[in-house]
Amino acid sequence: MRSAAGKILNAGRPDIAGMQRGACPALAAPMQTGDGLLVRLRPAGGALTVSQFQRLACAAALHGNGILAITARGNLQIRGLRSDTVGPLTAAVDNAGIIVPDGVAIEISPLHGIDAEEIADAAEMEAVLRHKLGDLLNSAHLAPKLSILIDGGGRFSLSALTADIRIVAQPSGQWLVSIAGDEEGATPLALGNADAAADAASDLLQMLAAHGRRARARDIDAAALTARFPDIDSIRSTRPVPKKSSFVGITALGNGRAALGVRLTFGQARAADLISFLTSAESAGAEEIRLAPDRGFFVIGLPETAMPAIRKAAVDHGFSVRANEPAEQVAACAGAGACASGFYETRVLAGRLMDRAPALFDGSMKLHLSGCAKGCAHRRADLAIVGSAEGYGFIVGGLAADPPAARIAGERIDFAIERLARLIEDNRGAGESSADCLQRLGASGLAEALQQE
Ligand code: SF4
Repeated sequence: MRSAAGKILNAGRPDIAGMQRGACPALAAPMQTGDGLLVRLRPAGGALTVSQFQRLACAAALHGNGILAITARGNLQIRGLRSDTVGPLTAAVDNAGIIVPDGVAIEISPLHGIDAEEIADAAEMEAVLRHKLGDLLNSAHLAPKLSILIDGGGRFSLSALTADIRIVAQPSGQWLVSIAGDEEGATPLALGNADAAADAASDLLQMLAAHGRRARARDIDAAALTARFPDIDSIRSTRPVPKKSSFVGITALGNGRAALGVRLTFGQARAADLISFLTSAESAGAEEIRLAPDRGFFVIGLPETAMPAIRKAAVDHGFSVRANEPAEQVAACAGAGACASGFYETRVLAGRLMDRAPALFDGSMKLHLSGCAKGCAHRRADLAIVGSAEGYGFIVGGLAADPPAARIAGERIDFAIERLARLIEDNRGAGESSADCLQRLGASGLAEALQQE
């Protein structure tokens, strides 16, 4: 059911009602999507052996639709499962020796333990947390999507990721516990050693459990926080918020070894490509895979001399090994051809936008191409283009489910791309980014431009 580029598809599409975001599609609770069931899994420590990753990709091909995704938070997704294939997939994960912790997701710095610049090992902090919190992490009273993030510092900061509870290493060697937000926006509550940080996290989880399964950290009452954390007003982070740096490319690890950051184009890969690339990487000496935020993974342990050949192998298999490529600005869901709910081929449109509207790709703008209003690939973007039976909806600074600023019929998409490009080129002020320009023009400016003949 592939569409000609630009054509909107209508037939045989499942109703997306009941498939809205918000659930947590763990192995034990797969989520219904337009292309079958989806599971999200985060192996312990975000780490896999090369062979485990290969076996997982084989299982995705055997039991799902052969597409693996890595999310913006660095979690793996396997799509296209059926109710009778989830069990065999789970068995394959077990047989490969992949441990997927239950309960609250704990996300840690991707190069924990091997980053020479880290302040502290996030995996050690996670071990303290799991030891001290025990069953609390699996409480049925906690929200399924609750997240704890542990950032040990180093070259690849998690500062841009939001989390309910953040535990961040400070230059002093202490851990700062804060809640609800990214590093800049979260509220600092407590500072101390690993035990003290785990105690603070434990108290926060107990407060959340008392509020019930829908509660997130932002819902905790300010008075309750002050009662538990009386120094709240004087606690501050002592590390400057790190600038986000791309994980893509080569990172020296010392002793002649290096990590190669590989990004999946639009966050997805075919299992066959992944298996073949991993075979090349393993023969070149790769020892381990670490999942990375921003839709990719590190290949760990390669000799620096093997890098040119492995970079080429990655590119030959359709992966990105160069930072700041235009595709990094695009979050595209599976779309028509891969998902029965998709009204258009998202990757085809991404290619057209990159070819015909280069003004959008100055590195500032986040684009979300969504085959339907469910918005699987992203939450909020500077510009979302969403498929529907009526054509393409253009949404400025919103979610895929928001009302569009303008709707364009399928056959007019090339005209709309040209108008969009011209809108930014003609209106961008000196030194202004494309994202700032679009935000300044707003939904009304975009609607006016797209409706002009
Ligand atoms: S957003 Fe994309 S992947 Fe998700 S259901 Fe819609 S078309 Fe399918």
